[in-house]
Amino acid sequence: MAENTYDVVVVGAGNAGLAAAMAARAGGARVLVLEKAPLELRGGNSYFTGGLFRFAFTGIDDVGTVVLDLTDSERAMVDVGSYPTSAYYADVMRVTEGLSDPMLVETLVQDSLPTMQWLAGKGVRWVLAMGRQSFKVGDKFKFFGNLIVEAVGGGVGLSDMEFAAAERAGVEVRYGVKAERLQTDRRGAITGLTVRTEEGHEEITSRSVVLACGGFEANAEMRTRYLGPDWELAKVRGTQFNTGDGHRMALEIGAQSFGHWSGAHAVAWDYGAPPYGDRKITDLYQKHSYPYSIIVNVQGRRFVDEGADYRNYTYAKYGREILKQPLRAAFQIFDQKTVHLQRDEYRIKEVTKATASTVEELAEKLGIDREGLVDTVREYNAACRPGAFNPSILDDCRTEGITPPKSHWALPIDTPPYEGYAVTCGITFTFGGLHIDRRGQALDTEERPIPGLYAAGEIVGGLFYYNYPGGSGLMAGAVFGRLAGRGAAEEALGG
Ligand SMILES: Cc1cc2nc3c(=O)[nH]c(=O)nc-3n(C[C@H](O)[C@H](O)[C@H](O)COP(=O)(O)OP(=O)(O)OC[C@H]3O[C@@H](n4cnc5c(N)ncnc54)[C@H](O)[C@@H]3O)c2cc1C
Repeated sequence: MAENTYDVVVVGAGNAGLAAAMAARAGGARVLVLEKAPLELRGGNSYFTGGLFRFAFTGIDDVGTVVLDLTDSERAMVDVGSYPTSAYYADVMRVTEGLSDPMLVETLVQDSLPTMQWLAGKGVRWVLAMGRQSFKVGDKFKFFGNLIVEAVGGGVGLSDMEFAAAERAGVEVRYGVKAERLQTDRRGAITGLTVRTEEGHEEITSRSVVLACGGFEANAEMRTRYLGPDWELAKVRGTQFNTGDGHRMALEIGAQSFGHWSGAHAVAWDYGAPPYGDRKITDLYQKHSYPYSIIVNVQGRRFVDEGADYRNYTYAKYGREILKQPLRAAFQIFDQKTVHLQRDEYRIKEVTKATASTVEELAEKLGIDREGLVDTVREYNAACRPGAFNPSILDDCRTEGITPPKSHWALPIDTPPYEGYAVTCGITFTFGGLHIDRRGQALDTEERPIPGLYAAGEIVGGLFYYNYPGGSGLMAGAVFGRLAGRGAAEEALGG
């Protein structure tokens, strides 16, 4: 085969791109992965993740086919429950207000376990996510939000394992190469793409291209254009390289835009975090134990139901609510009754935090309106109804008579010293993207498959609207990456 000629070119070397590349290779294709970042910054958003994957399982035996090193003592000490495909499907539909594309969700949930097993077969290793996703109840660790496993070494480990697996499979990766334009013939079929390197422009010939180059979360102009005012001011939690290039390239050749283009996954993120992700801190700027706190703005007012649901089902939509507050700031206030429930990310030294023996002093230290916070805490404490506090279930500790309510885990803030954490909005990824079919092939504006064009990962539209169940991003990337890679190879080699 001539130099610069491949069967399949994958754009982007994150979780979705590497899954696509491995699947295309397994289908017998000669595969090139193009990565815009230099080698030392490779891995995309996938590198910054906690490595948590959400998949359907019927019980611990299924989990054992994913966590290959699961020991008997681990089996005995955990209660993972079960997570049927129907429950996974219902969770996606519930949090997305029923807007998710049924075919995409069905494919995601049905293929989730087989795809986990496929990745395990390629050498990706997982462990039980006990630290972040379970609480000890009696003598067992009980998982509360159907998120059971994380990659060994988190996102960094995941990325390393996937690169190693792709290299073992014979996938070629070129770094510092930006895909710029898709080339098509008179039929509209993909013939290759134009790329830019340090030396200038280059043409690469290929019959199939898989776009796995992320969303437009790192592009301030596109954020503002599609998500709305003030989104240019959000901090980016991950890579600076996901700037919507794939969206632009695909729309230019007639691909259909699909999904929630004004929606994004965005979370509570340390107020002092840098503008883009930090490769050492990765996801630890997030502050996700807020269900056991109250959240106030600089006026000292609450603005969300902190205990509306388990963290896994609210965290991705609360970043947007924080962005709407004055100074784009919010403060999570804890007392000593719940600080022991704080996740690992609260204990890093790069944290914007204050501790005080009174609520007034805490307000002053954090720059919150003093009277506002004192009034809020007084009203909130008076509204807490007695119940049996239990973080591993949707318990009956709730407020009555205040707006917004706190629906679960509501305990009075009355046990000093008090701790406050300042957060802002950190954007994770955007929801709008391309329309794909069941094989991962991109559709045009007339809903016809575009010959040779496939997509996977964040660039796929139609899966998530308003919100998202934690751990679905990596899972969707792997499921649709595998399908897209397989489809791209079949088409390229199919004559
Ligand atoms: C801090 C953080 C924590 C997260 N934690 C989790 C978690 O625990 N579980 C979960 O499911 N999800 C998590 N997510 C979401 C998850 O990261 C994404 O859903 C997923 O990684 C996206 O994978 P991807 O392959 O589509 O994109 P990416 O991994 O971002 O890969 C896209 C790649 O494309 C490259 N690229 C962009 N443009 C071009 C171009 N023109 N040419 C060539 N290359 C290009 C980029 O450099 C990048 O390497 C987290 C995200 C962040 C930021």
